Amino acid sequence: MMDFKTEIQRRRTFGIISHPDAGKTTLTEKLLLFGGAIQEAGAVKNNKIKKTATSDFMEIERQRGISVATSVLAFIYNDKKINILDTPGHKDFAEDTFRTLTAVDSVIVVIDVAKGVEEQTVKLVEVCRMRNIPMLVFINKLDREGKDAFDLLDDLEQKLGLKVTPLSFPIGMGYDFKGIYNIYEKNVNLFSGDSKKNIEDTIAIDDLQSPELTTLIGEKAADTLRDDLELVNGVYPEFNKEAYLKAEQQPVFFGSALNNFGVRELLDCFINIAPPPRPKLAEERLVDSNEKELSGFVFKIHANMDPKHRDRLAFVKIVSGTFERNKPYLHVRQGKKLKFSSPNAFFAEKKEIVDISYPGDIVGLHDTGNFKIGDTLTEGEQLNYKGIPSFSPEHFRYINNADPLKSKQLYKGIDQLMDEGVAQLFTLELNGRKVIGTVGALQFEVIQYRLEHEYGAKCSYENFPVHKACWVDQSNNKTDEFKEFIRVKQKFLAKDKKGQLVFLADSSFSLQMTQQKYSNVKLHFTSEFD
Ligand code: GDP
Repeated sequence: MMDFKTEIQRRRTFGIISHPDAGKTTLTEKLLLFGGAIQEAGAVKNNKIKKTATSDFMEIERQRGISVATSVLAFIYNDKKINILDTPGHKDFAEDTFRTLTAVDSVIVVIDVAKGVEEQTVKLVEVCRMRNIPMLVFINKLDREGKDAFDLLDDLEQKLGLKVTPLSFPIGMGYDFKGIYNIYEKNVNLFSGDSKKNIEDTIAIDDLQSPELTTLIGEKAADTLRDDLELVNGVYPEFNKEAYLKAEQQPVFFGSALNNFGVRELLDCFINIAPPPRPKLAEERLVDSNEKELSGFVFKIHANMDPKHRDRLAFVKIVSGTFERNKPYLHVRQGKKLKFSSPNAFFAEKKEIVDISYPGDIVGLHDTGNFKIGDTLTEGEQLNYKGIPSFSPEHFRYINNADPLKSKQLYKGIDQLMDEGVAQLFTLELNGRKVIGTVGALQFEVIQYRLEHEYGAKCSYENFPVHKACWVDQSNNKTDEFKEFIRVKQKFLAKDKKGQLVFLADSSFSLQMTQQKYSNVKLHFTSEFD
């Protein structure tokens, strides 16, 4: 048995973020192969949504429901316990990804060499930057023609606001792709297009001027590489682990996930430098992972799509202490103790019951409606973890009951779907009507479908034009200005599910005017603010 501290130090819990199609699934799969967690390629299910047809989506959701384990993929590599948290790249699931990012200790950003920085990458990296999450970048698909390496590095700095330093560098690209020089390990890895490539194929080159380099890759490529590396040396700062851990510097690797090329280098560096479970801020205090008492929070709830069993799996990230089977823990929001007889741990693409889990691990708890996203479990302490904010939805509609005999079912269904984080519910102050806000238009159909199939309720929608939901800071609510704001804007005010006041601006113009006119009424674009 390893001791508690060693268990914590060996854990690496991270997410891979990318724009769809950059190669996240392929990279995940290769990483699992290195860990010996899967035997062959193709074992990792790609959960991404290719089409936007609801039927396709439902089919995928159903599969997800059955193999929820793909939400967390764990394996051991070089004695490190690695937990990869799935982060959907599709923009309709951005909320899900944002929440998952509250549970990671670091991320790997995958970029397509031909496409460079794309739209979803920008959004996701911004969230990581805001939270100071350490990031490693993997530029993928070097076997294809793509952008110039220096242009890509510029792109990362300008479009993503990163401060990069390459730890490997490509030798040629596409048709001319010869391999990669590993700046971190000082060796050359030659590309043969053979996916079974392994460690033995790397050749140590301590001295770039050595004729051996010329022999290996030819005079022209060797000269280019020497020039490139000189430029790298002159332009980019040296790698600094502390800066990386503080999210002030982002190391970059090049490779080809499909060809399993450059992946071992990425993984070896990753397990070396990526942080073990970090301390996490609760509303009450900072909690260190080395503390002996359990604390953890729910960052994701997955519904089982089997309509006969309305059970759900709540994913808990363990922040401190150990999570033990059958031991009672305090559900802080509900103020009651709960015991779990079959907590799930995740291994490769399977899930299994475990007796004990450590900080950094994710446990899946079967739940019949006790949990909401953001809920905290402890051994008795009143702790509430911060940092699971809601963002303004993009689409808003009134939700109406379409079967008056089933209103109880409808409200229960809405309530539970909102707890899962499928969408956000707003109740208008003026007339109590309910408005649903979602990130993607797809979610409205998902909600309708699930209400019908899981709760036996029917709903219909009506347009409700909202540009943005803004959370209203009520700390100055005694002022005349605030009172006037409430009176004049009554039609646009609502409460979110937690009872926080929200201003639903109907256009960017009216938002701007409101901010000007009531300049002391603070409006926020996320639900959490100080
Ligand atoms: P995801 O949407 O980010 O999960 O992307 P996938 O891993 O599903 O990859 C998208 C497509 O790019 C698939 O067809 C992959 O086979 C392909 N792909 C991934 N990595 C590479 C690579 O290194 N080289 C090439 N040529 N194709 C790749």
